[in-house]
Amino acid sequence: MSSDSAAVDPEIVVLDNGVPTAARVYDVMLNGKDNYAIDRQVAEGSLGIIPELKEIALHNRAVLHRVVRYLAAEQGITQFLDLGSGLPTVRNTHEVAQEANPDAKVVYVDIDPIVLAHGRALLQDNDNTRVVTADLRKPDEVLKHPDVQEMIDFSKPVCVMLVGILHHLADDEDPKGIVKALREAAVPGSYFFITNFTRLSDSEESEELERQLLEQLGTGRVRTPAELEEFFEGLEILSPGLVPLPLWRPEEILTDATTIGVRFMTGGVGKKN
Ligand code: SAM
Repeated sequence: MSSDSAAVDPEIVVLDNGVPTAARVYDVMLNGKDNYAIDRQVAEGSLGIIPELKEIALHNRAVLHRVVRYLAAEQGITQFLDLGSGLPTVRNTHEVAQEANPDAKVVYVDIDPIVLAHGRALLQDNDNTRVVTADLRKPDEVLKHPDVQEMIDFSKPVCVMLVGILHHLADDEDPKGIVKALREAAVPGSYFFITNFTRLSDSEESEELERQLLEQLGTGRVRTPAELEEFFEGLEILSPGLVPLPLWRPEEILTDATTIGVRFMTGGVGKKN
């Protein structure tokens, strides 16, 4: 693996154990080991508000596997740009994509340099995968990053992945503008795979739940189904649409689709025609 850092040199990163990060809090949710007490504290606080968050995180990983496999194996997509990729965990994008096509190229992008530090060990023998430390709020910088430029051929279709990341961005960080910039950089035949925390109902209880959760996480915004759909502007949304994650081309029949664990995160795949 060759790797680089747009913002931070991972060689000189001093991890501040007093500050939780989204990557490590998510690692707690996935029962990972790459986290500190402060991350576990935030995870526990969030689980106190929505106990189903672990289940939601697992559904999110499961749909990631299904989508990547579908695009690599059935739609012939050979390039994946995984933005806000998180810490390496069990079954990562490159493993699923390269199982379908060993030549598939994957670039992971995350703002947290710890992702690069861990990815380096995991990917040292994998020439088709890179990890980049960059901020997706600056999509032009991400797209121009030397590793992205070297690995992704933007004259060919690409799958842009924004999985469990846009809800970390507030409206004034312009998530719609970020998706638009990425959409414009991708050629027809490209796919956009987006999942996001989604409002459960219009009730005051629902709003209060969101407020408490975001207070714990410290950032972001839960969006309505209509707001999620706005991210897919100009794209053809593939069947079955923007749905609770376990309902996106499931491999197992779900006995109860009404629970918070199923419904709090929705998403889907859009194709640029
Ligand atoms: N995409 C993975 C998944 O769905 O399994 C991981 C999602 S994790 C909840 C969100 C990740 O986004 C974290 O690793 C965090 O560091 C990263 N992140 C947050 N803000 C970011 C930004 N502005 N640019 C790049 N990555 C960001």
